[in-house]
Amino acid sequence: MDIKYFDYTASTPVDPDVLRNYIDTVREHFANPTSLHMLGIKANMLYEKLCREFLALFKLKNHHVVFTSNATEANNLAISGYLGHHKKGKIITSVLEHPSVYNLLKSMEDKYDICYVNVNENGLIDLDRLKKEINKDTILVSVMWVSNIIGVIEPIKDIIDIVKDYPKARLHVDMVQGMGKVIPDFDLNDIDFMTFSAHKLYGPKGIAGMFVKDGIAMDKVLYGSNVQYGIKPGTYDVGLISALVAAFKKYIPHTAENLRNVKEKFMYLTGKLSNPKIIRNTPHENINYHILNLSVPAMPGEVLVHMLEAEKIYVSTGSACSSKLRSPEKTVFAITKSRERAMTSIRISIAPMTTYQEIDSLLEVLNKI
Ligand code: PMP
Repeated sequence: MDIKYFDYTASTPVDPDVLRNYIDTVREHFANPTSLHMLGIKANMLYEKLCREFLALFKLKNHHVVFTSNATEANNLAISGYLGHHKKGKIITSVLEHPSVYNLLKSMEDKYDICYVNVNENGLIDLDRLKKEINKDTILVSVMWVSNIIGVIEPIKDIIDIVKDYPKARLHVDMVQGMGKVIPDFDLNDIDFMTFSAHKLYGPKGIAGMFVKDGIAMDKVLYGSNVQYGIKPGTYDVGLISALVAAFKKYIPHTAENLRNVKEKFMYLTGKLSNPKIIRNTPHENINYHILNLSVPAMPGEVLVHMLEAEKIYVSTGSACSSKLRSPEKTVFAITKSRERAMTSIRISIAPMTTYQEIDSLLEVLNKI
């Protein structure tokens, strides 16, 4: 296939070992893991082993894991389940958040006092504002680790330090774009809710989840059985869970070398990008180097996407989830304050398997626009 794929932030291809793991596991463990017979018990034993291994991979000592169909669902269930237990209070989040957090909180504005902290021109959350806003009534702080639009790494360590002085406040971190891409400089044990998604790290679609700190009261959002702590009732697929764990076990230990690899390609790409019509939106510091967000003012993002597609080069406008909506990309707007740049942005994503030939093909089109 002569395709040049630069949309790894939207989704990654499934790693062949992970796919094999999935096929082998669903073949052997097709029974319902809640069935009382031997086949069910075996499937359930594997599920429990996978949960233990997954928590151990992140050195989590006081958390449990809940698997969901995707991270959109995990963010919704984590936040709605926790807030269901709190009828009022203050919530602090950022303007950068993924729609599964941002739009959910927007829908709750009549019930809670919600503050959307802004970011500076480098995409970093305004910590002074966070410090000013947080108070004894704050029940939740929700921030993403790495932006899916511009690749900025948020100062989670500082945020943990700020939140820990407010015992009522729980911290939710959307870890989807950070896991396996950057090394955390914070202890995951200090975070109450963390969400992740397999298809962003060479696992299959249809499986994601959250880590929840033990002892946090959660209300039911979905009604059914009591499996997965009642947070996500219903039959789960041990095969998909096994594939997710296999993907993370394979890629997480290589995070540092993959980051070095991707950074070299990112520097090569940005170094050779010579078209003065192109403006870089991704900041220069505190970034994951997997995402290069650009704008060509006067050329709508989708026109550029299709222009590249004609050369079998695949990139995104904004994020895949909102790419069909014709509205300014909110993260690009937040850092540039330019509606034009926010309407004309495209997102190029690089992975360790990206080749220099692919980058050269991309550069050829971009440099002659
Ligand atoms: N959070 C972030 C930061 C993301 O990038 C995405 C995927 N675009 C999600 C949440 C939602 O993940 P999923 O595709 O698994 O629903």
